[in-house]
Amino acid sequence: MPADLHIHSNFSDGVDSPEEVVRLAAAVGLKTIALTDHDVVDGIDGAKDEGKKLRVEVIPGIEFTTENPRTEIHILGYFIDYKNSEFLSVLEKIQADRVKRIYKIVEKLKALKVEIDPEDIFAISGKKAPGRPHVARALIAKGVVSSFKEAFDRYLDFRAPAYVPHYRLPPEEAVRLIVKVGGVPVFAHPAISNCDGIIPDLMAEGLRGLEVYYPGYHPEQIEYYLGLARKYGLLVTGGSDFHGVDSGREVKLGDLTIPDELVDELRNEYLRRNKT
Ligand code: AMP
Ligand code: ZN
Ligand code: FE
Ligand code: FE
Repeated sequence: MPADLHIHSNFSDGVDSPEEVVRLAAAVGLKTIALTDHDVVDGIDGAKDEGKKLRVEVIPGIEFTTENPRTEIHILGYFIDYKNSEFLSVLEKIQADRVKRIYKIVEKLKALKVEIDPEDIFAISGKKAPGRPHVARALIAKGVVSSFKEAFDRYLDFRAPAYVPHYRLPPEEAVRLIVKVGGVPVFAHPAISNCDGIIPDLMAEGLRGLEVYYPGYHPEQIEYYLGLARKYGLLVTGGSDFHGVDSGREVKLGDLTIPDELVDELRNEYLRRNKT
């Protein structure tokens, strides 16, 4: 049975709870999933508990939003020790800044004559990893805009008037942090960042894989990234980047899966790294 190694829950900007995600995964016959919420690990225990009941293996994961001077880069971490206190203190710093940023976005919206209560946003997101998709949902709920696209186009996009950046790690630091807590770091959806030249630099810090299978990749792109993985000796991973049935994204759980052998290779790398 197949696996999906890139899934979000409502602890970040997904719609479904971690338990619901596992139930959906079981229903479509997935044997292994990784929960990879943005900058937050608090959903993992709930997913693991549900996974035990339904015989779905849940790999503890994370997706760091990082940036370098050229572009935004997402780094996935698998088999992380998500209880490590040093790791959690870095996450707390990122999370605190995400919360502060929501207040700044609300101020900018106010200047644009859009009144929204920050608590309406936190009611959707919680106070761990609030982000622009939660602001978009609050704007839709309030009737200010009618779609995600309109919320981003008019207010939240990088070039739009209510945009506020948030604190991000440089990609090298995210890779180092994942390695430090025993995890295996993987470059997420590399075609989106379009900066493959960084791969050797990230490998020097411990990068071990490339997310080769991702929704919307053309067969030539997959071939290209398979070639890069071979050239650099990197592991191959993949996942749906599922954000929920009602998330505004079309991909469903079960639409993009990878074979068990790729998960075994990832697990072997984790075991090899953590051999004492
Ligand atoms: P944040 O980390 O809070 O800046 O939010 C980033 C998330 O916002 C991304 O993962 C996307 O899901 C979403 N996003 C960013 N730009 C757009 C856009 N132009 N249209 C729709 N969603 C977007
Ligand atoms: Zn997301
Ligand atoms: Fe991503
Ligand atoms: Fe993602």
